[in-house]
Amino acid sequence: MKGKTKIKRLTISFDLFPLNRYYSFRTMKRIVILGATGSIGRAALEVIERFPDRFQVVGLSSQVNVTGLAELVHKFHAEEAVIASEVQVQSVQDLFPSFCRLSFGEMALSQLSAREDVDLVLVSVVGIAGLLPTLQALRKGKTVALATKEALVAGGKLVRRALSEGKGLLLPVDSEHSAIFQCLQGNSPESLEKIILTASGGPFYGKSQEALEKVTVDEALAHPVWRMGKKVTIDSATLMNKGLEVIEAHYLFDLPPERIEVLIHPRSIVHSLVQFRDGAMLAQLSLPDMRLPIQFALLFPERLPSLVQPLDLSQVKRLDFEKADPERFPALKLAYQVLSSGGTFPTVLSAADEIAVQAFLEGRITFPRIVEVVEEVLSRHSPYPGNTLQEALEADRWARKEAEKIISGKSSK
Ligand code: MG
Repeated sequence: MKGKTKIKRLTISFDLFPLNRYYSFRTMKRIVILGATGSIGRAALEVIERFPDRFQVVGLSSQVNVTGLAELVHKFHAEEAVIASEVQVQSVQDLFPSFCRLSFGEMALSQLSAREDVDLVLVSVVGIAGLLPTLQALRKGKTVALATKEALVAGGKLVRRALSEGKGLLLPVDSEHSAIFQCLQGNSPESLEKIILTASGGPFYGKSQEALEKVTVDEALAHPVWRMGKKVTIDSATLMNKGLEVIEAHYLFDLPPERIEVLIHPRSIVHSLVQFRDGAMLAQLSLPDMRLPIQFALLFPERLPSLVQPLDLSQVKRLDFEKADPERFPALKLAYQVLSSGGTFPTVLSAADEIAVQAFLEGRITFPRIVEVVEEVLSRHSPYPGNTLQEALEADRWARKEAEKIISGKSSK
């Protein structure tokens, strides 16, 4: 049992509040938001608008939404903006004010997140594109509020190393991980027994295999509780989102897979739970609204009034839970398998899923095929140790190509 109770001290530091580390928590934070035009980015800007004396927006980025980004730059007087995709420079420059420096391409995201005068970086871009800016910011000792779970899934070891080298701070934005992080405050890592992630089950919870074959894109995009971007909504329907979150939790909280459980909780009121060694459990409850975990990460360690209505438990009346059996949910099973296999398997899972979800959204494959494609790609992978950025990027590229081959039927087994 000795190994079971030994948990390494984490840089994410959920032990007794090292408040002296956050001595500046009442001063103005200079913030960069990567993925400002997405649902998390916009929700973060709503939070920021409420606290004009706490935040100054230094930089904003968007993948492709040029006009949306230009509007936000005007509104928040951002000094710098990045359009991560390749666009015609001449055609967009005029949309931005003269006080804003405009850059292009993914490398510019990392430069923005590593700026000397930035304290806090919210990373909410889709996919592995969030990895390098996260690493750069942490190496420079900044606080990173991380919403892009794929960055941790694809490069968990690298992120942990950057944390220990750079003395930065990593704060989870994902609602489940924020819930766990909140529950752990004031408790020593040694007192933790396990964590329990809750999952809504998505729109198809309880449906038969035959019914899943006929699922349309619109049905899959109609999440019963959360309004989110397309990728994460489809991932919620396959439960791959929960699988990615198990891997995310593994790297954030340094726990082995057997101490990370998943419970189906369709109403998404309990955002996750922790169980301590004495058997006590703590949970974080609130209405499902991302502005709360975002605000917690941005203002940490302060709690101030938020835009989210407090929960009225007399209205909620009952909370239901059901065991999420990995045998019943193939995506969840794959996630636990890749965690045990290690190496670049988690990177491959994440990349193959991105391609398969895109193919489903384009009507090229059926809904159950998403997870099958991921499984096929994983079965063909010869892993690298996954200790370098080069390896992670190479595994990511390989998995995307392989997934595309399988989807287009150009692949021989
Ligand atoms: Mg989540």
